[in-house]
Amino acid sequence: MADSQAPRRPPRLILLGRQGSGKGTQASRLSSIYGVPHISTGDAFRAAVKAGSELGRSVEGYMDRGELVPDDLVVAVIRDHLFGAAGPEGFILDGFPRTVAQAEALSEMAGSRGIDVVIDLEVPTEEVLRRLSARRVCANCGANYNLVDNPPKVAGVCDVCGGGPLVQRDDDTEDAIRRRLELYESETAPLVEWYRDRGLLVAVDAAGPPDEVTGRVVTALNAALN
Ligand code: AMP
Repeated sequence: MADSQAPRRPPRLILLGRQGSGKGTQASRLSSIYGVPHISTGDAFRAAVKAGSELGRSVEGYMDRGELVPDDLVVAVIRDHLFGAAGPEGFILDGFPRTVAQAEALSEMAGSRGIDVVIDLEVPTEEVLRRLSARRVCANCGANYNLVDNPPKVAGVCDVCGGGPLVQRDDDTEDAIRRRLELYESETAPLVEWYRDRGLLVAVDAAGPPDEVTGRVVTALNAALN
């Protein structure tokens, strides 16, 4: 990124978009480009389930059914990660907020510094379904792949940690995917208007290869941040 385009301070970004819109992939790239941590509530919950912690035991059933974890649990995780004493100044949120109640809690936690930009990744339904069935994650480090658009360099081996195996997520079954997409429409899609009303929303066409989408997102972000 050219210096003239660098944001003045570590940005606070939110990525909205349905399951399969590429939030995880784009958030991890934006995290390197802008030098801010990528915070995914889904990744945090999967790590807690894997570790067998109390949080993991509380959220596992909701996740397996494709249901939303209750707002108070999710907000507590974000409060700990981002708004404790050692919280980062900037961040990129992937998968949070997912309800208006979560957005209201975030707005209160973010205080007068607020949130800088909310990017809505727009992808047609057929492409979302195709991407979800081809999605794989590294069982070792959680890196995301798509067997069609974004495969690992060596089949079955994670580019990031060199391990694996690359597996389907437990909640990428047909029933859970259908439930998650329904919940997105009823609970999360209203956030697009919520953030548009607050002058924070930037919609980006997120169909097509990941590199092209990253280019469009960075152009939109730099315009909005400067
Ligand atoms: P994700 O990886 O973002 O698709 O999240 C996987 C699952 O974690 C979701 O289907 C929910 O069960 C749970 N989850 C993640 N983030 C949230 C959130 N902000 N609110 C409620 N549930 C969440």
